[in-house]
Amino acid sequence: MPLLTPAEELRSAALYIRRHAADVTPGPWKSEASVAHGHRVGTVDETNWVAWTGETGEESSARDADWIALFHPMVGLGIADWLENAADLHTPRHHNDVPVGCCCGAGDFPCNDVRHALAVARQIIRGVA
Ligand SMILES: [Zn+2]
Repeated sequence: MPLLTPAEELRSAALYIRRHAADVTPGPWKSEASVAHGHRVGTVDETNWVAWTGETGEESSARDADWIALFHPMVGLGIADWLENAADLHTPRHHNDVPVGCCCGAGDFPCNDVRHALAVARQIIRGVA
């Protein structure tokens, strides 16, 4: 893969999130536990089940269900918005073709805001590669 600019990496991760969010069960979601059904995730309005993470005695199944419910599609889309905003609002600044920082006023590029967004984007993209 050719080397991507920070903005391209951020937009790539945002696009990946948006593609995965398309046509999933709308959020918000909640987790639920019962002896009969184990740990599972469903919509808050209880119209759809989304995931089953294990029996009630299985290690981590309750935490997994809570985690999935916490990161329902609207959370993912919010992260996509944040990544795209970081790409839009932070661009390299040059003086006489010499890089002098970020347009946000930071003296370096990628600036601190972009570095944090890139850390998230790279974790998302890592799941693709
Ligand atoms: Zn910046």
